[in-house]
Amino acid sequence: MEKRTIETRFTSEDAKIENSLRPRRLSEYVGQARIKENLLISIQAAKQRQEPLDHLLFYGPPGLGKTTLAGIIAAEMGVNIRVTSGPAIEKPGEMAAVLNGLAEGDILFVDEIHRLNKQVEEVLYPAMEDFAIDILIGKGSNARSIRLDLPRFTLIGATTRAGLLSAPLRDRFGEIHRLEFYTPEELRAIILNSAKKLRVPIEEEGALELARRSRGTPRLANRILKRVRDFAQVRYDGKISEAVANTALDLMEVDKMGLDRADRRFLTTLMEAYGGGPAGLEALAASIGEDAGTIEDLIEPYLLQNGFINRTPRGRMATAKAYAHMNLEVPDGIL
Ligand code: ADP
Repeated sequence: MEKRTIETRFTSEDAKIENSLRPRRLSEYVGQARIKENLLISIQAAKQRQEPLDHLLFYGPPGLGKTTLAGIIAAEMGVNIRVTSGPAIEKPGEMAAVLNGLAEGDILFVDEIHRLNKQVEEVLYPAMEDFAIDILIGKGSNARSIRLDLPRFTLIGATTRAGLLSAPLRDRFGEIHRLEFYTPEELRAIILNSAKKLRVPIEEEGALELARRSRGTPRLANRILKRVRDFAQVRYDGKISEAVANTALDLMEVDKMGLDRADRRFLTTLMEAYGGGPAGLEALAASIGEDAGTIEDLIEPYLLQNGFINRTPRGRMATAKAYAHMNLEVPDGIL
């Protein structure tokens, strides 16, 4: 996929600033009120019983704060966190070693957990359920399996879509939480906090304008803040006002609703090549030269959430709001 101005996936560019901007406690974590409330109760209950937390699964588009939440939970529980990802663990033995290295109460965070292969995933079943792993020793007819006890730990999994997880794995999580896109007001609060930490002068209206164009995603809000800071410094007096924010974002081709070139290309293709739909995901993906998974993870969720497209059994459809946004006449029969 072409490099997007508003790439929501984690890039090396983020690594430099994300750690310094990542909230460390639940009280600093903006938004996701329902999840926070649930977690506060689970954390307090687990602490009172002196037990590890139930295994947790977070799902939702990239950049909404899944990794951040895992770190916060570890801090609130006062335990260590070990971070890995689905693609990083290739063999069952590697997973067994990771599990074996945990201490009582520790958290194991597995990002992109849907990408674990089947054999590795199977190591997790008894580990999550009984805090044990089965190890096969010997060969052929002499082979036998022995059970090794593990410390009681908490697995926190993150995935972009819960539907990508196999049912046996999904069933072993005690709590499953879906992260929501953030409102402009929530993003404004995140931007103002980040600006303070980065010592960037910013006006309230400037922050709100950046927030409106950040596609409901904190990672983007922080990235856009950083880009606009450079712009304000080089072209203006360094302060991010509403006018500076507007000019900078127009230059980055991020429109008033936060849509970038890739989003707009998706919408125009749906409208112009498919008459507004319904169009199948695979066909649309082929038309814009993108893979279907990328579209489902990175383009559609925000468009759906904001009513630019509808998903019907026969395919994707552009809405009247999408036509209006793209300055195209709304055809008959489009709602
Ligand atoms: P994910 O794991 O869902 O891809 P991250 O947890 O890595 O997303 O979040 C990306 C960045 O966005 C973090 O480094 C953090 O700075 C910021 N962020 C995410 N959620 C919040 C939040 N609720 N409040 C403040 N900042 C947040």
